[in-house]
Amino acid sequence: MNIYADRGNLLVLERRCAWRGIGFELTPSGLGEPLHPDAHDLFYLGGGQDRDQRLCAEDLIETKREALHAAASRDAVVLGVCGGYQLLGHSYALGGDQIPGVALLDVHTVREDGPRLIGNVAIEVALGGDEPTQVLAGFENHGGRTHLDDGQRALGRVLKGHGNDGRGGFEGAMRGNTIGTYLHGPLLPKNVWFADWLIARALGLDPAELAPLDDRLEQQAHLSARRAAGV
Ligand code: GLN
Repeated sequence: MNIYADRGNLLVLERRCAWRGIGFELTPSGLGEPLHPDAHDLFYLGGGQDRDQRLCAEDLIETKREALHAAASRDAVVLGVCGGYQLLGHSYALGGDQIPGVALLDVHTVREDGPRLIGNVAIEVALGGDEPTQVLAGFENHGGRTHLDDGQRALGRVLKGHGNDGRGGFEGAMRGNTIGTYLHGPLLPKNVWFADWLIARALGLDPAELAPLDDRLEQQAHLSARRAAGV
């Protein structure tokens, strides 16, 4: 799935690798195409409409689930955005139907009655280790409400916006290098520090080991996204 500006996320990863002389190869994976868990450092699942998600969910379970689990257990990065996040969980309940997910994250999503959760959003993220708390800013647009099961860590705390379910104050989910978030619009051009964190994790490096880049423009994009969210 790749609506909601998902290509922008991939471009940012590609450019930031290229600027540092890190090789980058993008391999799309369509319906029915198996994944090779050891062939990639980072797996990306984009956003989608409910209709697309049904098709993708079936295929994810049948042809990609095992490989994604194998990749995650050897610490490859798996990033799911919005519809992709929902399908990294256990299920997405929708109009009497239950769309199954690959269950890499202990979350389940329900399309409850009520408005879609739409708007600019900012969250505070503590990725762990010695890394300081940082802000991710983006845009959300989802009908599903995602609930974290006991013991499942959120990606961040909502500063502004709706987050996972519009009421719990948390956004996204994270386990090891598997991350799900509702932030798109797209996410990484507005938060290049997070793109670098993903690149570093995918390569088994500390983010501080990546060569610094001139991020003046990117900083402006980040600040503008934060301002839009009012943070
Ligand atoms: N279809 C899902 C929902 O509305 C995901 C939307 C998205 O990917 N932006 O909840």
